[in-house]
Amino acid sequence: MPTDDCLFCKIVAGEIPADVVHETETTVAFRDIEPQAPTHVLVIPRSHRANAAELAETEPSVLVDLVESAKAVADKDGLDEGYRMVFNTGAQAHQTVFHVHLHLLGGRPMGWPPG
Ligand code: 5GP
Ligand code: ZN
Repeated sequence: MPTDDCLFCKIVAGEIPADVVHETETTVAFRDIEPQAPTHVLVIPRSHRANAAELAETEPSVLVDLVESAKAVADKDGLDEGYRMVFNTGAQAHQTVFHVHLHLLGGRPMGWPPG
């Protein structure tokens, strides 16, 4: 269900500019507007799905595509020391955009557990 008022659908459509770093037939990856690490890239499916679980149910192969795209960006950005992949799911987990996005974070040491 593509939505007219979904920010990330608009980025996929090219209606809102983004710093796109990688694209495939099924995914788009672009730098986060408010980066939390030297590399902070959002990898999203071109189709509108609310969260990772909904994507897994409806288009499981595209969930794999997200991870493969994240790996490609990590390689391009030289994240040889490691990186983190995060799906915030639901408001309490700080999901603010309800078009599934994989956060790829890297380029600095990261603590655990997350806040
Ligand atoms: P969430 O909190 O839903 O897991 O992540 C949403 C992310 O989208 C945030 O990290 C936020 O900085 C990013 N974001 C929000 N609006 C825009 C935008 O217009 N462009 C880009 N590139 N990132 C955005
Ligand atoms: Zn959307």
